[in-house]
Amino acid sequence: MTAVYGFLEEYDGSRAIFNTVTQTEIQSTENAASALEDSWVEFSELPLLWRPYLDEGRWYRFDISNDSDHEVNLQANLRHSLDAEQSESIWASHPERIDYRTTEGKWLISKFSLTNLRTPNFYEIEEAVDESLRSKVADSLICYNVGQGSYAALCSKGEPVLYFDFGRGFGRNAKTYPTNFKPRLKNNPLIVLSHWHMDHWLLGDKFPQSQEMVWIVPLQKIGPMAFKFASKVNANKNGKLLIWSKSLAPLGTPIGDFYKLPSHNHRNQSGIVLIAKIHHHNHTSVALLPGDAAYNRIPHQGRRFDGLIATHHGGKWYPKDIPPTPNKHGGVLAISLGKNNSHGHPAHNTLHKYQQSKWTSPKTTDCFGDIRVL
Ligand SMILES: [Zn+2]
Repeated sequence: MTAVYGFLEEYDGSRAIFNTVTQTEIQSTENAASALEDSWVEFSELPLLWRPYLDEGRWYRFDISNDSDHEVNLQANLRHSLDAEQSESIWASHPERIDYRTTEGKWLISKFSLTNLRTPNFYEIEEAVDESLRSKVADSLICYNVGQGSYAALCSKGEPVLYFDFGRGFGRNAKTYPTNFKPRLKNNPLIVLSHWHMDHWLLGDKFPQSQEMVWIVPLQKIGPMAFKFASKVNANKNGKLLIWSKSLAPLGTPIGDFYKLPSHNHRNQSGIVLIAKIHHHNHTSVALLPGDAAYNRIPHQGRRFDGLIATHHGGKWYPKDIPPTPNKHGGVLAISLGKNNSHGHPAHNTLHKYQQSKWTSPKTTDCFGDIRVL
């Protein structure tokens, strides 16, 4: 029997995926995140009674074993890589929440904190953005097809100058990720992460060249694999990891305004969002890139948009959320998702909400491929 710590990366109400590490592994990788192994424990059908104790983005502790006994009696699967089709059938005990007020909780949080790598510094972000975007104008906004994930770019003459999210389909949705995909990095684009869900950053791990870019990331709780990735960017001699902590001050740039949403216990709601400006023929169009956040978390003050990349891949509508309004001549709505994805996106009632708000013909990346939003 092995005791493990598990960071709950994904939870949809019945199926839970933990990124796990052992205590010895954490101790032996002191300041060397690269030595962390990738281990994933997946519970497919959690007993109803335990479901309310699970929160995505939190640490838990449980035992795993090849044999069951009366404590270790939940069926689970163990994988040694995120996309591995092969998995080992194992037994696990009920995941117990780690209390962050205890020594153990504090130890765990401090081990995997982004602030171990670099101190959040807003001025550094302003400086990097100024250096990278000072003389840039974006003339198109593309929502690329990466399967069930997010990856959009503001381009100048066809080349990305800024990526907003750098993710792809993975795990059960790995089949939605297009083969022969390659990110375009010719102009050393800035990469901004909306939030730390894996479908928003995993291309960074797949294409090490991207780790030579400047990454602006929100300060959020992250698991071992994300921490390992952030460490790689931070250690890269050309790359830079810049951490944006809680702030309501917008970051204005020639290609749009970024906002870091205030803290929230769900990572979708505490990330970075972008209101992008696209220039063509002496005309400026505006688009909203919300990441996976609810629209009412975003300070868009009733603005109208020419383009919108749907929040949360067109998934279930956030209760009481209100969609933004398209320009009076209409607007382009893009939805980034993979065909037959495991989450059932897009949700029927979500498409209906957009329809009601006059976003008339949504384009999904599974049907349209790369979508030119503006
Ligand atoms: Zn997502």
